[in-house]
Amino acid sequence: MSHNAEIIAVGSEMLTSQRLDTNSLYIADQLNGLGVEVCRKLVIGDDCALVAEAVQDAMRHADIVILSGGLGPTEDDLTREAVARALGRPLQMRHDLVEAIEERFRRRQRKMAENNKRQAYVIEGGEVLPNPNGTAVGQWIEENGHVVILLPGPPGELKPMFTRECMPRLAQRLPAQVIRTRLYRVTGMTESDLDHLIAPVYSKFTNPATTILASPFDIHVHLRARCSTEQEAERLLAEVGDPVVELLGDRIFSRNGDSLEAVTGAELRKAGATVAVAESCTGGMLAERITAVPASSDYFVGGFLVYNNSMKESLLGIDHALIERHTAVSPEAAQAMAEQARARAGATYGVSTTGEAGPESSTGVPVGIVYIGFAGPGGSEVRKLNLPGDRTRIRMFATQAALDLLRRNIGK
Ligand code: ATP
Ligand code: MG
Repeated sequence: MSHNAEIIAVGSEMLTSQRLDTNSLYIADQLNGLGVEVCRKLVIGDDCALVAEAVQDAMRHADIVILSGGLGPTEDDLTREAVARALGRPLQMRHDLVEAIEERFRRRQRKMAENNKRQAYVIEGGEVLPNPNGTAVGQWIEENGHVVILLPGPPGELKPMFTRECMPRLAQRLPAQVIRTRLYRVTGMTESDLDHLIAPVYSKFTNPATTILASPFDIHVHLRARCSTEQEAERLLAEVGDPVVELLGDRIFSRNGDSLEAVTGAELRKAGATVAVAESCTGGMLAERITAVPASSDYFVGGFLVYNNSMKESLLGIDHALIERHTAVSPEAAQAMAEQARARAGATYGVSTTGEAGPESSTGVPVGIVYIGFAGPGGSEVRKLNLPGDRTRIRMFATQAALDLLRRNIGK
């Protein structure tokens, strides 16, 4: 028996820019905890035929089918009808539910409109899932080893219902199964280079499943093992994860999800060191990333935002002749900026950025050329970057490379 689930979010509002289906994120998280994978998610408008068709289709490849939304009292709430149609079962009016709804209205001194009775219909053979937070009850229906679950749309009603009513029932049906994951965050290489390097290791395995995801600043490598025991899952994770770690080496900066600025900050704190920055093309973004981390005052001294040449000279004390000779976008300027930031701020380390972020070159240097500088007690280092992408990406990657250069030099 497979343990796959499909989630169907019903509601036309989620097909516009008005609303996003967030219920499925919650449900998927809970299911994963039970060792159940979500194999597909759908968002469908308020269309009875489409929903019925989707339920039938879902039952072909998933043994758990979960619908959210469309259980309200109005004409466009048609999930009950759609599932009844898909299963070929009639809807039955439950008088105890009619009474409960009437009672709810009475308590609020309101008269129940006739259409509220729609919420008292239960699919034949279905079990009612109580809803202490609203009028629409949920439903649990079993058919040929499959389960179809109907849940109300409002997250404040769906979440408690799923946790209290569905999770224990699902856990009982499933053999013990666990999912264990590993996450490596990697910087300093492209997604395709990374894949080329580690694909020979991970592609031999379907369990754990490996996913490589590019995020704005770095790349996430996810490993996900599904097994019957924790030990087995950990063993499989090690079988793929350990060689991947070996191959990627110190390009992995985090194994717990922490950002590069958080990891670098923690290293600085551990070393009892401080840092100051001098930024040109990144215009403060480097300092912004460093200070976004709580308690960064432990190690961040401050920075020099020196966008034009006269500020580089007056604020940082860079030699006029140096800029004349080499220009401001040069390894010499990057090095002098890092050294001066360090000296003027009295910090252990200095880090700098200077480059051409585009879209037009204002310096004669090609767009995407960025120099990042590092200065520390052991000397200085400059890296030349040739970054692809638009202005935003170039500036983002420049801060990433600068942080990484700092991280690699801490304690050296
Ligand atoms: P109601 O009795 O409130 O009508 P319902 O089961 O019919 O409940 P919907 O009408 O589909 O649910 O949605 C009610 C509210 O819940 C709306 O604000 C809707 O945007 C929100 N909602 C519905 N589905 C989702 C979802 N998948 N993720 C997040 N919010 C949702
Ligand atoms: Mg509704």
